Amino acid sequence: MIVFKGCARCAGDLYVEKDVGSTDLVCLQCGYRKSIRTWIDEAPEMRRQEIKEKELQELGV
Ligand SMILES: [Zn+2]
Repeated sequence: MIVFKGCARCAGDLYVEKDVGSTDLVCLQCGYRKSIRTWIDEAPEMRRQEIKEKELQELGV
């Protein structure tokens, strides 16, 4: 899954990186990294809905 232009630093594209106990969003262009939970909390409403849906699908919920 990719979040297009989701990076707060460079407006680059973010991809999901899963680790044990956490899921991060990482920027393809600059390496910026943020927990998906934090990103959702801080994201504008429109993006928030977008990523929540995708995240739930991704996790098979
Ligand atoms: Zn970036």
